[in-house]
Amino acid sequence: MSTIYFPEPFRIKSVEPIKMLTKEERIKKIKEADYNVFNLDSEDVYIDLLTDSGTGAMSTTQWAGVLEGDEAYAGSKSYRALIKSATEIFDFDYIQPVHQGRAAEKILLPILLKNKKYAISNMHFDTTRAHVEIAGARAIDCVVAEALDTTSPYDFKGNMDNARLVELIKELGSENIGTIIITITNNSAGGQPVSMANIKETSSIAKKHKIPVLIDAARCFENAYFIKEREANYNKKSIAEIVKEMFACGDFFTMSAKKDAIVNMGGLVGVRDKKVAELVKQRCISFEGFVSYGGLSGRDLEALAIGLKEGLDENYLQYRIGQIEYLGAKLDKAGIPYQKPTGGHALFVDAGKFLPHIPYNEFPAQALIIELYIEAGIRGCDIGSYMLGNNPDTGEQLKAEFEFARLAVPRRVYTQAHLDVIAQALINIKARVNTIKGYKITEEPPILRHFTAKLKPI
Ligand SMILES: *Cc1c(COP(=O)(O)O)cnc(C)c1O
Repeated sequence: MSTIYFPEPFRIKSVEPIKMLTKEERIKKIKEADYNVFNLDSEDVYIDLLTDSGTGAMSTTQWAGVLEGDEAYAGSKSYRALIKSATEIFDFDYIQPVHQGRAAEKILLPILLKNKKYAISNMHFDTTRAHVEIAGARAIDCVVAEALDTTSPYDFKGNMDNARLVELIKELGSENIGTIIITITNNSAGGQPVSMANIKETSSIAKKHKIPVLIDAARCFENAYFIKEREANYNKKSIAEIVKEMFACGDFFTMSAKKDAIVNMGGLVGVRDKKVAELVKQRCISFEGFVSYGGLSGRDLEALAIGLKEGLDENYLQYRIGQIEYLGAKLDKAGIPYQKPTGGHALFVDAGKFLPHIPYNEFPAQALIIELYIEAGIRGCDIGSYMLGNNPDTGEQLKAEFEFARLAVPRRVYTQAHLDVIAQALINIKARVNTIKGYKITEEPPILRHFTAKLKPI
């Protein structure tokens, strides 16, 4: 791994002060929050790593765009700016702005899945899975086996298992499969990238069976950066060229612009087929608003038009991916286990390995998340058995494949010194790891419990 890291390609013009609580105050706050970090006031958090979605810092150019936003109901100049910017980047015939990624899914997936039984993806993000199911189909994940071994340093753990994909198509019948979804980067596998070779192979399999390819593009620029860094023959291509090459493999795309496009709210649908474009327009008008704003303000459209270009910038991506790599290298030195190699938007600490004395049904990742808050005011998120919940038939606690404590890094928000605090907090926790206890749930709703459940230390 390279030891040269890439510094912030920006300077700070406006700052947002953060409160620094004492450890005693944090112990009190997390108890009052029933040991659920979703109940904490964000003001009581020093470094907020809950998500990288919609939490990025906009640039001076974007804020200037906000003032310039044209709020006309139809034909606004900000809409035209967005379409120009998005068309240049993705090279799709029809692009529809919507208010966020799941709105794009709500509009497009029922069209693709009409009279179909299945969608297959390298991994469905949870809202994508939900919209496949709402459309009456089943979502099947088909990721490569390497993704499931946190210690394997495989470069493209987000890849589709294309051999398995061919088998699945044979088994299920191509006429029953509404779409093949390529999620870039593979969020649920740990922000892991998908290689260009893999994208092309998936796309040619889909084409052979006449199944449309949908690109779930939330972190497509980060994926392009990984291709440039890790895949043979891409080192000399620009990020923009790599993005075009990836998108040429898709018939449709949906994008949550809250990630790589560095806006606080926004999304896109991309379509080539004229008939489907008409259906998308109709559904957009019913659910989101007229086609020229799609549930967004003119100022949001303007900020998005600019953010798309900034998200493509290679110096920015070097710094962005470099941040996670930097954190990973510090954890390597300290012997703290995490999903390797580091992915795009987050570092996933392997809490199952870090706290081996806590069994899955006492939630090791949640225990680590709480310790991180107590230690340094850091807020991460459990992606393990605590999040997974109970078997709906038996009520028994399910055992997750991994007990990850996810530390998602917002874009352009935290400096290298903040990253040092995160690494040091984990190192301090490691020194007292045997004193850390598991948790039990005292109150929980039947679904999506991790947002509202109450917990107690054992
Ligand atoms: C965030 C995300 C979505 C959903 O987008 P929202 O803007 O949160 O509605 C869909 N797919 C992937 C891969 C995502 O990361």
